[in-house]
Amino acid sequence: MTTRIGIDAGGTLTKVAYWDEKKEMSFQKFPSSDFNAVKDWLETNHSLASICLTGGRAEQLKRYLSSKIEIPYIVEFDATMNGVMYQLKEEVVSSDSAIIANIGTGTSIHIMQDETHSRIGGTGVGGGTLLGLGSALTGISDYKDIIELSKEGKRGSIDILVSDIYQHNKLPIKGSLTASNFGGIALKSEETRNHSDLLAGVQGIIGEVVATLCIQAADAHRVEDVIYIGSTLEENELLQKIIESYTILKQKKPIFLEKHGFSGAIGALLENK
Ligand code: ATP
Ligand code: MG
Repeated sequence: MTTRIGIDAGGTLTKVAYWDEKKEMSFQKFPSSDFNAVKDWLETNHSLASICLTGGRAEQLKRYLSSKIEIPYIVEFDATMNGVMYQLKEEVVSSDSAIIANIGTGTSIHIMQDETHSRIGGTGVGGGTLLGLGSALTGISDYKDIIELSKEGKRGSIDILVSDIYQHNKLPIKGSLTASNFGGIALKSEETRNHSDLLAGVQGIIGEVVATLCIQAADAHRVEDVIYIGSTLEENELLQKIIESYTILKQKKPIFLEKHGFSGAIGALLENK
């Protein structure tokens, strides 16, 4: 069967979007450390597919696929923004201008205004931090295990809140805000902490750093909507909750799309006409 496929080969995960027999968009993902699995899947299921590639590891994947015809490539940021715009339409979310944060291995921050877009910043704090710091602190390296355990965690002994510092004093800002991520480990020495607590603390760092940067970008560019994408949000309700509540607190509108990590792959698929 000849079909069309968009592939986003990222630093951690390779995401695939394609049209199935019922002409519905379908999805697959593979670790980017296993391009053989991508190749096998394509050869078994879609040997005649017309592919469009995007993502930082597209060139390496291309070498694995050893196609006789040249595989087209679309710039990652263009693919991602096209994928975001497609999902906004599909999910009937209207947003003419927004900050977009792609929480992948690292985090890239963009502004979209009147169908044009540009990159305005980023941070090395992202999904790779969740896996890397999470594993350094607990020895647990599986993504699903990390997010499951973190759900039960309590950050009270990990972080220092504004209210911990301003005890019995008039609060200058909301007491429930984090004054210091992981500062509690240094200052609340008598407390016990388990793996769940530590992992919840890591989710806190990621959510709060990313949301803070996005809120500042939204203020600077006078936009209200912040769209959060990237596989780090996949099945990760805790991270979504941290990001959502902080963004709302700062009077911005957080938007999460259903196919968190697939915007780049969708954009590559749509480019593949
Ligand atoms: P980049 O865009 O920075 O090159 P990427 O495209 O590979 O990286 P994403 O796929 O958007 O990034 O997100 C990768 C992150 O998603 C991981 O760091 C991890 O936190 C999370 N993740 C979600 N599902 C998985 C999974 N099955 N295995 C590993 N990580 C996962
Ligand atoms: Mg990516």
